[in-house]
Amino acid sequence: MSSNKMSRLKDSLSVRLTFWYAGIFVLSTLLILFIFYHRVASVAMERTNQELVEELSEFADMFADAGMDRVIQEMRREAVSEDQNKIFFRLISTSGKVLTSSDMSSWGHIKVSPDHLRMAINENRPVLHTLERTDGRHDARSIYGLIGPKTLLEIGLSLEDNEEYLLHFKKLGLFLVPPVFILAAFIGWFLAKQALSGVDEVTHIAGEISKGAYNKRVQVQRHSHEIDQLAHTFNQMVDRLQALIQGMREMTDNIAHDLRSPLTRIRGTAEMTLMSTTSQSEFEDMAVSIIEECDNLINMINTMLDIAETEAGIKEFIRESIDMSTLILDACELYRSVARDKDIALHSELPEQMSYQGDKAQLQRLITNLLENAIKYTPEQGTVRVILEDLDHTLVIRFEDSGIGVPPSEITRIFDRFFRGDASRSEAGTGLGLSLARAIAEAHGGSIGVESTLQEGSVFTVTLPRKTATS
Ligand code: ADP
Repeated sequence: MSSNKMSRLKDSLSVRLTFWYAGIFVLSTLLILFIFYHRVASVAMERTNQELVEELSEFADMFADAGMDRVIQEMRREAVSEDQNKIFFRLISTSGKVLTSSDMSSWGHIKVSPDHLRMAINENRPVLHTLERTDGRHDARSIYGLIGPKTLLEIGLSLEDNEEYLLHFKKLGLFLVPPVFILAAFIGWFLAKQALSGVDEVTHIAGEISKGAYNKRVQVQRHSHEIDQLAHTFNQMVDRLQALIQGMREMTDNIAHDLRSPLTRIRGTAEMTLMSTTSQSEFEDMAVSIIEECDNLINMINTMLDIAETEAGIKEFIRESIDMSTLILDACELYRSVARDKDIALHSELPEQMSYQGDKAQLQRLITNLLENAIKYTPEQGTVRVILEDLDHTLVIRFEDSGIGVPPSEITRIFDRFFRGDASRSEAGTGLGLSLARAIAEAHGGSIGVESTLQEGSVFTVTLPRKTATS
């Protein structure tokens, strides 16, 4: 395997998780085995202790019933029957002198422990202790206890069986480590693959998207919570990217289609003037008309950019506390003279004060665009009314006019960029006012709706929720 591949494998999260899992699993298994081993060892020791205590008590009864000779006879018999290499009996006087014992030739030299002996005499109870052997023989458990007047019995029981049993247990534990590690690694690998399958999917989908498949999304709600969160955020990011790309496409389409005609117009005017005009004043008129057209063009391009940025959510959003009543009242004052020129009655129904958190400059544009349209598309002697209400924590602004209305065939398109109704072409305009108004309302978490009857009038309703206004 190349060093590159090795280092990639080392860095792989699945491999690392597998090793962590296997390591923790093996350590836990060893810990459990260790606790179990100690428990088994102490139970075995308790059983040995009990055996010795019972044996000692039987001999004490025998001494009381049948005397010392019977005890000596019985201890020799038992030593033979139970294997003299594994058990010994010694009768000891209270002064520590060995009176007699079973055959202890295989036990080597075992001294009487004066401390334990004294304790057994003074406290008149059996005293247990472990004979630790340094001569290569197995350790033994020994008990001292008084069985008759001035006579003690010591019974020694080899711990060979216990040690062998525990050694098996130890070997089994060590023998289990490699298979347990391999098994844990398999389980760990499987679990890591399962847990990270969502990440693989995100990587796979990201690869496809980078090749142009923008409609691909990661499936959510099939993995763990964290992976689903990742998938959800990833999908949101792709949605946003797709919206931005879509916005850019529309923008380039608009530039291609809608900016071409004013440019052609400017060029035509200049060409015509050059070909047919000689007087200074006509050149001046041409210059004025070109400047006007260029201003319109600049205005259009700026509005287009504003719409694109507002829709994409990248336009700076300055949230502040605004009094909407004042904002609408100011706009009405601004357009009052235009309305008066057309003999249009401009009314506003506003509460004294209504505060709202939003971008003041953007909301000003929204209000002026809709108010300007209402006046522009209302014939002379008509009526325009602006109404502001607070309905269930939502600000509602209605722009009602008695104007030309929107034909049903156009009503779904009036919010499209550069759309201008057939009946409105005689009025000045760019076809961008409603698109911008809608983008601003949506940037505040709101919307704009329209109801219209041809030749009777229109109602544009802006709803702005108070709490969900977002940038
Ligand atoms: P513009 O007013 O510059 O044409 P807008 O985007 O503001 O562009 O409006 C798009 C179209 O919607 C208008 O051309 C017009 O046909 C229609 N419209 C907008 N407001 C009204 C209204 N109050 N009454 C009737 N038609 C309207």
